[in-house]
Amino acid sequence: MSNLFYQGRGRKPVLDQARGLYMWDTDGKRYLDGSSGAMVCNIGHSDPDVLAAMRRQMEKSTFGYRLHFETEASEKLAARLAGLMPEHLTRVFFVSGGSEAVESGMKMARQHALATGQGSRWKVISRQPSYHGCTLGALAVTGYAALTDPFEPMMRMMPRVPAPRAYLDGLDPDDEATGHHYADMLEQRILEEGPETVLAFILEPVGGASTGALVPPKGYMERIREICDRHGVLLILDEVMTGAGRTGTFLGAEHWDLRPDIVVMSKGLGAGYVPLGAMIVDERLVEPVLDAGGFAHGFTYAGNPLACAAGLAVVDVIENKGLCANAATMGGTLIARLHGLMQKHEIIGDVRGKGLLTAFEFMSDRDAKTPLPRELNAYQRFVDIAYQRGLIVYSRRTHDGYSGDHILVCPPLIATEDHLDEIIDGLDASLD
Ligand code: PMP
Repeated sequence: MSNLFYQGRGRKPVLDQARGLYMWDTDGKRYLDGSSGAMVCNIGHSDPDVLAAMRRQMEKSTFGYRLHFETEASEKLAARLAGLMPEHLTRVFFVSGGSEAVESGMKMARQHALATGQGSRWKVISRQPSYHGCTLGALAVTGYAALTDPFEPMMRMMPRVPAPRAYLDGLDPDDEATGHHYADMLEQRILEEGPETVLAFILEPVGGASTGALVPPKGYMERIREICDRHGVLLILDEVMTGAGRTGTFLGAEHWDLRPDIVVMSKGLGAGYVPLGAMIVDERLVEPVLDAGGFAHGFTYAGNPLACAAGLAVVDVIENKGLCANAATMGGTLIARLHGLMQKHEIIGDVRGKGLLTAFEFMSDRDAKTPLPRELNAYQRFVDIAYQRGLIVYSRRTHDGYSGDHILVCPPLIATEDHLDEIIDGLDASLD
């Protein structure tokens, strides 16, 4: 028996080595990483430039507590990230993961409200379904009953609005009226709650684990921004999964020229080399908080030089190898190839995504959008079959209990056409 435990009793093979898109277990079996871990390893495994940058930093220092020292690595990464954001997002706060980043975003928003005489604002509206992390604060805005219900008495539940799932509601995602229809539900909810009590709205630009690469309908993002502005509600964009090039641009926000007040990132920033996350904030929010005595928040490992040196090297690789552009191109090819699989396999009811954040969803009736029976556990069975064949994909049951099992296909952004061929062949054989 191992001393380790995570979610259940099941044990996985033991990882030995990983290079590029491939991973090997200690029995020598090879796996193609078609999910970049959990959409983390955006630049592939064991990138030599990142390893070299980490070695260089390790020789100098690995840790300096943030209240004792600034470090060159954290200053440089902050400047670099600010340069990659919409221009109003200039202030960077480092953390070690996605949940920490989300918590930081919500606490920043709350402290800004307090510092500016808006202390009645505390509610953070999120979407159903959604995933924003597993710490209690991040869970309070996560629309996924299976994860929140067990902890219900420990959380003060935040309001939810429906995520825009046009394909299930029989609406045309390319019609602006559809985007407005869903966005207007946010306005209605803000009015019901009382705008003076609403602090922020948090959303992913493209749905990740919760909705399976769901792209918002036309007009939605623009309208969301208008509504937030109208009611003094801050817009927190959770780019934990979509950031660092995953959707074909450095931030998902760029697809809509969206101007969030706070962006949170993690996964692809540390890219599997180090635990790293960041909150990037509008200068206008930060200054009042600092004037009022400072941000009452922070994590011990925040901004440590090793994490930041690795993060900086990761951003360099993304830029030097043109990985945003490659994600856009390869993503287009992958979506087309998944549509090909949909023609062949009736069980696929929908294909969607942006860049290399792509997914397909199982349905028993494509036209009626009927999900497969829950008890089939199709998503888990499919992932297991593919894994046996040496192809790793990521899957979740849609987080609202609707059993529309989706499979996320999200290889590292260094993927080539040959890798996509291998992924499609593996999916095809597993579907058979
Ligand atoms: N936000 C989103 C959108 C995520 O996908 C995740 C992780 N799946 C998180 C937050 C939480 O990140 P972490 O697991 O690093 O705490």
